[in-house]
Amino acid sequence: MKRLALSLLALSVTSALFAADAPTTPTFDPHRLSDDVKTLSSDAFEGRGPATAAETKTIDYVVAQFKAAGVQPGGDLKNGKREWTQAVPLLQSDIAGTPSLSFTVNGKTEALTQGQQIAVRSALDGSKAVSIKDAPLVFVGYGVKAPERNWDDFKGVDLKGKIAVVLINDPDFETGVGDFGGKAMTYYGRWTYKYEEAARQGAAGMLIVHETAPASYGWATVANSNTNTQFDVVRDHPASAHTPVEAWIQRDVAVDLFKSAGLDFEALKKQAQTRDFKPVVLKGETFSANYKINSKVITSHNIVGRVEGSKRPNETVIYSAHWDHLGVGAPDAKGDKIYNGAVDNATGTAALIELARAFASQPKPERSVVFLNVTAEEKGLLGSEYYASKPLYPLATTVADINMDALDPHGPSRNFTISGSAKLDLLDELTTTAKQWNLVYSADPKPEAGHFFRSDHFSFAKRGVPAVSFGSGNDWVDGGLAAGKAAEDEYVAKHYHQPSDEWQADWPFTGMARDLQILYKLGSDLANSDTWPNWSKDSEFRASRDATAAQRK
Ligand SMILES: [Zn+2]
Repeated sequence: MKRLALSLLALSVTSALFAADAPTTPTFDPHRLSDDVKTLSSDAFEGRGPATAAETKTIDYVVAQFKAAGVQPGGDLKNGKREWTQAVPLLQSDIAGTPSLSFTVNGKTEALTQGQQIAVRSALDGSKAVSIKDAPLVFVGYGVKAPERNWDDFKGVDLKGKIAVVLINDPDFETGVGDFGGKAMTYYGRWTYKYEEAARQGAAGMLIVHETAPASYGWATVANSNTNTQFDVVRDHPASAHTPVEAWIQRDVAVDLFKSAGLDFEALKKQAQTRDFKPVVLKGETFSANYKINSKVITSHNIVGRVEGSKRPNETVIYSAHWDHLGVGAPDAKGDKIYNGAVDNATGTAALIELARAFASQPKPERSVVFLNVTAEEKGLLGSEYYASKPLYPLATTVADINMDALDPHGPSRNFTISGSAKLDLLDELTTTAKQWNLVYSADPKPEAGHFFRSDHFSFAKRGVPAVSFGSGNDWVDGGLAAGKAAEDEYVAKHYHQPSDEWQADWPFTGMARDLQILYKLGSDLANSDTWPNWSKDSEFRASRDATAAQRK
């Protein structure tokens, strides 16, 4: 009885919250969200692995829902007509056998064991084999070239035929104060950036020195995610995005290597935290690598629905969410091999379907709205990367991307968050909109982990399109922060990327239903305005947005 009284009380608090002059927007049905998630994460969908039979099943389901919702196909153009999907060719790459890897230090060869001292990922530059003999090693600090911050770690060094050795995270991560957002990670701190810059610098390869704090994860994570099958989008010029060798080395391996070259790792790191840093050659030391690559192209698909704008159809607001998950894999303790991905990301896909239904039920917005259900997020944000590299609708006139990844199926909260930290008008507008439902914005408590770069909105952000990934709050109306955090911790520890991420009958989905009103309002306001939100002046994404300003008159 006591329990019942408590939950009744909670219910009345909830209704009071809803009633507080919340604007009129379409409402979202929690049962519908639950049904979508239940279906998409059922065993029949086999964990939604890209380019498997489960992909066909997922596409069929989402397309049927989009059709029923009343949105139009927005995918590839074929014979003048839009299809429901965008084909996404993916490069799949494996190292054949055990790679031969070594340093030569003052004439003596030291073999490196894959996964132990070094973690080399299979080549994604189009190579069929990697054969590097005695390439010189050059320490390039944090490997950052940031003109808007007047920072260049390379200082014109020639890296052709050489291996660059770099530190992970931003130059100001350790000191906590500086030109790279202090503790918060900018894109310059992310390993993907380091590899991209190495390719731009024309290096033969890059070795990132692993340190747990600035990487935000241990060596095991690095080893596991680099020594397995690698994927990338099929690129027109893969060698301009990847060097043949992309690898991490353990910190103690780096310290020894520096020492043998008469250098002090910690002292050089201190230098690398300043603008004056200059690249340092590791004298008398070289790197060699020899292995074959097995690669092939597989084809997956993004699913695309669209509501065409009534006044400015060439201007687009995008909602995105990934449909894929990990598929069928290693069994857990119970023998379950299906990685159902209920929270990650059947919730986002369900949200996308219901947003499509809401938009189709209302008068046409002035700008077009695209519902982009991307593939291969779990393989490195590849579906969104492909869309953004070959956009179906021009990025210059894409107003914003609002992404949803792993939403909370529980009750409503008093706050919301976004993945990572970023400064942009879109977040300000989201914050203002959420206030109308009495929600406050809670910043990412661990901005140094670089979560901003780990979900699909980032494929848009790096090309200048204002983009955020919405995150459910953890200050629950029913139970407060204690309950919200407990649920969060339990999810991360017991279910995240595990076969047990499964739909639960007692999930109310009332929080998602409420949050979707906010996301609807945000997108609808943008789609019915002529404003162009931008990045803050000091954002690393501002310059690429401003470069296309002439196309947004
Ligand atoms: Zn996800």
